[in-house]
Amino acid sequence: MPERNWAGNVRYAAARRHRPSSVDELRRLVAGSERVRAVGSGHSFNRFGDTVGDLVSLAGLPPTVEVDPRRRRVTVAAAVRYGDLATQLHAAGYALPTMASLPHISVAGAVATATHGSGNDIGNLATAVAALELVTADGDLLTVRREADGDRFAGMVVGLGALGVVTRVTLDVVPAFDVRQYVRLDLPRPALDEAFASAYSVSLFTDWRGGRIGQVWRKQLADAPPPAADWLGTTAAAGPVHPVPGMPTENCTAQLGEPGPWHDRLPHFRLGFTPSSGDELQSEYHLPRAAAAEALAALDPVAERIAEVLQVCELRTVAADELWLSPQYRRDSLAVHFTWVDDADAVAPVLAEVEGRLAPFTPRPHWGKVFTLDPAAVAAAYPRHADFLALLREADPAGKFRTPLLDRYFPRD
Ligand SMILES: Cc1cc2nc3c(=O)[nH]c(=O)nc-3n(C[C@H](O)[C@H](O)[C@H](O)COP(=O)(O)OP(=O)(O)OC[C@H]3O[C@@H](n4cnc5c(N)ncnc54)[C@H](O)[C@@H]3O)c2cc1C
Repeated sequence: MPERNWAGNVRYAAARRHRPSSVDELRRLVAGSERVRAVGSGHSFNRFGDTVGDLVSLAGLPPTVEVDPRRRRVTVAAAVRYGDLATQLHAAGYALPTMASLPHISVAGAVATATHGSGNDIGNLATAVAALELVTADGDLLTVRREADGDRFAGMVVGLGALGVVTRVTLDVVPAFDVRQYVRLDLPRPALDEAFASAYSVSLFTDWRGGRIGQVWRKQLADAPPPAADWLGTTAAAGPVHPVPGMPTENCTAQLGEPGPWHDRLPHFRLGFTPSSGDELQSEYHLPRAAAAEALAALDPVAERIAEVLQVCELRTVAADELWLSPQYRRDSLAVHFTWVDDADAVAPVLAEVEGRLAPFTPRPHWGKVFTLDPAAVAAAYPRHADFLALLREADPAGKFRTPLLDRYFPRD
């Protein structure tokens, strides 16, 4: 098990590391531990999952993927990577409605932090969850289901790893579909809403230099017509591009309108390309979509400062949902994502500036990335914060799954 997260900015503080090979072994481990946490593929950038006690990887459990065609669902082992799940689902004729930019992340880890792709009408990855199986603080095995557990279930799905160790996840699936990806260059910012509404899944990239949106990644259903030559005042990319100019394009999923399966177009990066470690930090804030233009304008005065420590900024949209800790809880959202240079000291003051300027828009942070928002502001931005606190108290009275960062944003009494 790695000593650090993928980006290398978190060295896990755990006293002990474990890789159980059965659920019973995991249950004994959790029951006997005072402080325990699951780790997925380690792609988060913060310390929500960083325990001082026992850190458990579920990668030693059988990587099962069981499709239920009758209910149009798949039940998958927690540590399976989305890319591997997608390949098997596609072979069975099914798809997930959305994927993150990187297919290398584990299902349970991504769901726990409400990881998302893009699409005005598409929810985050956690919204596909129909059931969770988890080992609770006392070592019991519990299954919670959307149909049977209602509002409580909605509180548990985006659980930040704080309610138990998830062993299996059941997801809704849809029939497999094909996608074509077109990259267009230099979108005028006033056309932002129209660009997002133009296709199944749209991502915009900007470097915050010159007020332009440098790239539009338009992922459209394969049978939709291609963008017109003068679409929204943009030009077509002449060849494949990487979101960060100068980086190798062979790592990216196929562009130029070549049709392909959903799982090989919705992520930006290919599963076959293995990112070893990332020289980057990431932050992301979710804002009301209706305030998109205003929120971006609020950042304009510090565009130069942002640009100095930025690799690239990505703008996406995510549909509203009912999951308590989802950044999209009852709010159609604009996701403003920053890939920063790998220099925490240089990034910190800019991050504070960005957070201050976005404050009027009640930003909700991505739970897997770097943020320093005031805990009271975060609590106020999540209408079900108090309910989640109550759930935490009930599910984990001794604080077995608690970590210092969780305590900061979800304080004990
Ligand atoms: C290059 C890169 C690209 C990314 N792209 C996107 C993107 O497109 N969209 C987006 O929204 N995010 C994106 N992310 C963020 C990433 O999706 C999240 O940080 C996600 O949580 C990573 O999953 P993981 O398996 O690595 O989780 P980890 O970092 O290992 O863990 C995250 C949290 O989940 C908990 N957890 C893990 N496994 C379990 C389990 N079995 N049971 C209970 N809790 C568990 C951990 O305790 C921890 O609190 C990206 C990250 C990177 C590095």
